[in-house]
Amino acid sequence: MASLPLLHWTPRGLYCAQGDFYIDPIRPVPRALITHAHSDHAHLGMGLYIAQEDSIPILRLRLGERIQTVGLPYGVRRSINGVNISFHPAGHIIGSAQIRVSYQGEVWVASGDYHTLQGGYCAAFEPVPCHTFITESTFGIPSFSWTNERLVAQDMVAWIQDNAAQGFTSILLCYALGKAQRVAHLLQHQIEPPFLHYSIQRVHDRLRAVHPTLPIAQPLGKSSGKIALRGKVILAPPGVLKSQWLKKLPPSKTALATGWTEGHAKHNPSMIHRTFALSDHADWQGLIDATMATGASQVLVNHGYTDAFSAHLRTMGLDAQPLIPSHMTQPSLF
Ligand SMILES: [Zn+2]
Ligand SMILES: [Zn+2]
Repeated sequence: MASLPLLHWTPRGLYCAQGDFYIDPIRPVPRALITHAHSDHAHLGMGLYIAQEDSIPILRLRLGERIQTVGLPYGVRRSINGVNISFHPAGHIIGSAQIRVSYQGEVWVASGDYHTLQGGYCAAFEPVPCHTFITESTFGIPSFSWTNERLVAQDMVAWIQDNAAQGFTSILLCYALGKAQRVAHLLQHQIEPPFLHYSIQRVHDRLRAVHPTLPIAQPLGKSSGKIALRGKVILAPPGVLKSQWLKKLPPSKTALATGWTEGHAKHNPSMIHRTFALSDHADWQGLIDATMATGASQVLVNHGYTDAFSAHLRTMGLDAQPLIPSHMTQPSLF
């Protein structure tokens, strides 16, 4: 057992043999520690879900009310078969956590997804000292560099006001868990509360129950007719572009809030009038700063630009390599 690394990749996901648990497993296992409730990290079929406590309502919403869960506050230590585990803020979405695993003096941290921005709407990322850091690298190439969110919000408000002056409704496309709360927070006090598409509303309601400082929003009910919505703001998931839903609305302009900016677009640009660079993930410099702040000498890189980012970390003197061997499939990105 002593020769096994504290965490290693298996076909079921990241495994701790010493504690007999997985982190964000991709196939059913008896005991799963979950960094956050995005669907590429929290899958169906686990015997037990252990997560930061604010993730639990969303895990239940998405995976079923009857799943077995244990919710822990940030920073509280628990022992699983003699291995200490704890959850620490990742700044990615509400309830998102880095998972610290320690055993016989050795400390590993699995980051999950993270954002190093301070002063956002959810608990800010905290560097956790460790020997080995497993980092994400969704935006792990130098061309990803975020503009200050407050400046992006100013552009967003100007776009909304311009649309309203021309009689257009503004539709901001954003994922229901994470981006929608980030956008709502940035627009708070600058425009009247936005309307929410149903799929965002139900996530928003659950999150407000555990995180009451989230902004108030308006449900997009049956009573919200075309006239009532003219010139207003609606937050909707990008999936509405493929549906008939847009046709039921008054004349509208569409914008996408995404980190996937120029040259990296994932959506059909002809249906999107504007893009706002806004991400739930760290940019290139954020990834480097976060990794260095852990003091880790070994780094394993997961999600995204794993080869490029680990190669860069090696030039900085770190022992870095992709977490998942190239012959195994990577989970999809979110
Ligand atoms: Zn995520
Ligand atoms: Zn992810």
